[in-house]
Amino acid sequence: MANDLFNTFMNGPDENGRFGDFGGRFVSETLMPLILELEQEYEKAKTDDSFWAEMNHLWTHYVGRPSPLYFAERLTDHLGGAKVYMKRDELNHTGAHKINNVLGQIILAQRMGKKRIIAETGAGQHGVATATVCAKFGLKCVVYMGAHDVERQAPNVFRMRLLGAEVVPVTSGRGTLKDAMNDALRDWVTNVRDTFYCIGTVAGPHPYPAMVRDFQSIIGKEVREQMTEAEGRFPDTLIAAIGGGSNAMGLFFPFLDDKEVNIIGVEAGGKGVNAKMEHCASLTGGRPGVLHGNRTYLLQDDDGQILEGFSISAGLDYPGIGPEHAWLHEIGRAKYVSITDVEALEAFQLSCELEGIIPALEPSHALAHVMKIAPDLPKDHIICMNMCGRGDKDIFTVAKALGFEMGAFA
Ligand SMILES: *Cc1c(COP(=O)(O)O)cnc(C)c1O
Repeated sequence: MANDLFNTFMNGPDENGRFGDFGGRFVSETLMPLILELEQEYEKAKTDDSFWAEMNHLWTHYVGRPSPLYFAERLTDHLGGAKVYMKRDELNHTGAHKINNVLGQIILAQRMGKKRIIAETGAGQHGVATATVCAKFGLKCVVYMGAHDVERQAPNVFRMRLLGAEVVPVTSGRGTLKDAMNDALRDWVTNVRDTFYCIGTVAGPHPYPAMVRDFQSIIGKEVREQMTEAEGRFPDTLIAAIGGGSNAMGLFFPFLDDKEVNIIGVEAGGKGVNAKMEHCASLTGGRPGVLHGNRTYLLQDDDGQILEGFSISAGLDYPGIGPEHAWLHEIGRAKYVSITDVEALEAFQLSCELEGIIPALEPSHALAHVMKIAPDLPKDHIICMNMCGRGDKDIFTVAKALGFEMGAFA
């Protein structure tokens, strides 16, 4: 890959799944054959027109793609600088970008003859998207979820059950997302023959980070066309929120070689990146290590114990970040910043009031960074932010944070 770097940022990963020093396949010997089989099957599907024809059909008729590219006029006037566009992936079926990727993996699983799908989920969004597509295809779905998260995310647990999925509360370790990921990997090794492991972000062992990125890249591909139609050119700046980094990679990837396009990833700063790890900013506040089968930046203590982190947004609480982001950070092609809970809440409210769009708390982080930089940029500077999820799921959290008592409005 090294030589290609002079020409393109889009050739990665190398044959070992490496993006520079990051990524790879850090898995047990028992898992290795599964990973290699998946890689082979994905490589075949990737160049098969019938695979993409099925994807495109379902993206159009089941998900509702293409999602609109929307000029946020009142927000732009309010900020008084750069022109702000929103890529409206919150309008997708199930309310976020997650389904773009789940569809790809499940179509692949079907090609491989796998009838049982397993997934892990933290806040429950990926679990719901997986349960949804499994219902659509009549596949068995088992979702591993930290016992602590099962309690905190009751509505999503119920959604998954309505959709016919089995939700397995994970009590090992500390009962969090990291433990759910371990149990899902264990399940996969045990049920090799009929089971497909569907990962929800650009993480895990190779080929997952590249595969999930490829499926999410539909976001950036659409933006290239839509922005060209709207403005006759590409945006100057792209901004997206980062949990594991899949919606961001999806927007960024098709633009990596357009060097005039600035790329900014926004991590969850929680209560502030300097305060006792009460944040989820793996790049800005973590250091490299191995988790979930790949090497990347992680939130960890001095002994290398993975930390849970903290954010008002449950969907940003992945303790690592996709390895391709770690690489883009180190080579300087993308810039990574963090936004606090307080700043995200302010952006959440502004989007509601000025645009009539209730955003998820995750993209509220991206919007908060837009609010920081747009006023100082010239009026002909174009920003495109990824509105990757809708906020229905977050209204109770926001009500609590703003001191409203639900039910006390009368
Ligand atoms: C899951 C989720 C995220 C975080 O995941 P990424 O892989 O970083 O995209 C962000 N926004 C929403 C709406 C989500 O559901």
